[in-house]
Amino acid sequence: MSIRANFAKLFKRTAETPDGDPFALEHPCQCSPEWPGLETTANGHMLPAQPSSHYSVLTNPEVGPFVARCIGCQARYPHPWVIQQGAPMPFDWDR
Ligand SMILES: [Zn+2]
Repeated sequence: MSIRANFAKLFKRTAETPDGDPFALEHPCQCSPEWPGLETTANGHMLPAQPSSHYSVLTNPEVGPFVARCIGCQARYPHPWVIQQGAPMPFDWDR
């Protein structure tokens, strides 16, 4: 199995909830003010996310499977974002 395939498997289900529903909803943020906070998920763990001037390797939608959503209305965040620095790694062996 290629490294890329392993990577995708490692972070599977990041764009869907365990029930198979989309993790983030395809609509504009409906909060006031907009984007009160961002969150993402990996391996069933929730992780804090934050807006950024650029994507990280993990959060780039062309590379990784991560999706960020609004903590208020669950809208998909359409701009670059990163996993918040210092956030715990999304692996059970790291908890
Ligand atoms: Zn919102």
